[in-house]
Amino acid sequence: MRKGIRLSDYEHAIGEHAVELKRIFPDGVARLWGSTPTQQTGNAKAVALRDRKVGDEVLFYAQNMFIARARILGLLHNRDLAEAVWGVDEETQSTWEYIMALGDVVEFEVPAEPILTALAMTPPLRSLTLVRAAERRRHLSLLDGRIPAAGERPSGEGGAAAPTDSMGRGDLLRALGTLDADVPDERRTRHGSLTLIWAIGRLVSGQDRLAPSDVYQSQLEPILQEFGSPDVSVSLEYPFRHLSDGGLWEVVGTERSDSDLLSLAASVESGTQAGLRREAARLLRQPLARAEAIGLLCTTYFGDVDQEELLERVGLGGYAHASGADEGDGERDGRGGSARAKGRRQVTASRPDRDQRLVNRVKLLHQHQCQVCGLRLETRFSNYSEAAHIRGLGSPHDGPDELTNLLCLCPNHHVQFDTLAIFIDEHWNVRRSKDGASIGTLRRHPEHDIDEQHVEYHRGLCGGNRFSAVRS
Ligand SMILES: [Zn+2]
Repeated sequence: MRKGIRLSDYEHAIGEHAVELKRIFPDGVARLWGSTPTQQTGNAKAVALRDRKVGDEVLFYAQNMFIARARILGLLHNRDLAEAVWGVDEETQSTWEYIMALGDVVEFEVPAEPILTALAMTPPLRSLTLVRAAERRRHLSLLDGRIPAAGERPSGEGGAAAPTDSMGRGDLLRALGTLDADVPDERRTRHGSLTLIWAIGRLVSGQDRLAPSDVYQSQLEPILQEFGSPDVSVSLEYPFRHLSDGGLWEVVGTERSDSDLLSLAASVESGTQAGLRREAARLLRQPLARAEAIGLLCTTYFGDVDQEELLERVGLGGYAHASGADEGDGERDGRGGSARAKGRRQVTASRPDRDQRLVNRVKLLHQHQCQVCGLRLETRFSNYSEAAHIRGLGSPHDGPDELTNLLCLCPNHHVQFDTLAIFIDEHWNVRRSKDGASIGTLRRHPEHDIDEQHVEYHRGLCGGNRFSAVRS
């Protein structure tokens, strides 16, 4: 629980849960807690194993103290993984195979007795026990001021608990990848994820992270209408209510209670604003975290959406291509025509200068052989290949024009690499973005160092990190 396990160390045991765990823990470090099976059906443990849900809060208990709390991000039954991580109990020959994937872990020490007494439980607590949300709320005061409850952030006024504002890139990506745990019907409506991608677009264009409700109405609602589920009515419920359960988002300037829905008129009058939390916004201003966040949102929630159009609409058009918005046709040296898969976007001719000597150097080192497929394309008098920047030179990627940021590719793989259809994993395997299937290993040359940070950036754009624990 404290350190987590590296998923890559357990690839052999994870099996069918590889994709799910990688989605929940995009940085590859998983916090897991397991329970052994129970033979009985009606006891507290059996009920808890049966009825617990993703999104539930978990309190950990030891020696008459509550010592930590966490939130359930995923539930899996995986005996092989449990055995690999924790071994087998020698006495019973059982293992902790009912596994919770946990996030928002906070450690503390709070005496358990008053809380257990209030819940009519007799200490010491010996088994997994489920407490209904109503009971949890009723006895919240006993924990108030001691720990922040899962998914709740102390408000500025009256909240005695310290804010848990130490969000890292992994936490951010985890929260983005598990929106459906907080936002009702997210998989179907896409309202939460659309609100977030719109908010990231605002950050990129230099606007404030917070916006009043009339801005949401005039700017976000058309996007929800166009790209959200057609059978769900659009309202301010998402930006002003559901999203703020997940640690990414906040609503400020109102004394609302959860059961109140804010009317537009009332919220404008009271000056209520909503937007990304300060910590989330700070992370999303960093290029690598932002590229990963956009790639993750696109691959997790926008599978049925015209992503290029959506990104364009929210001011993130450059993220639909690895080469960036400004690089345009010039990225393809050696011929005049555009190799862009779609010519919908008007690309201005302000491409950054690229160093032709580096282009020639990378082609020469690889003797025009594609680093993905090995093809050397013959022309009448010589051979043909293309130099591809891994992290695009153009805006918004702003990659460097260096040999360590170049690949030698055939035209087909250059198009696929630029349109984010393929990416390179941590072990230099080339994989398809849509399903993670390996199409080969990147061919390397000893004199051609490749900067792994640029590869990681491109992989983030492709949403490729969710596959990197999968072997095929
Ligand atoms: Zn190729």
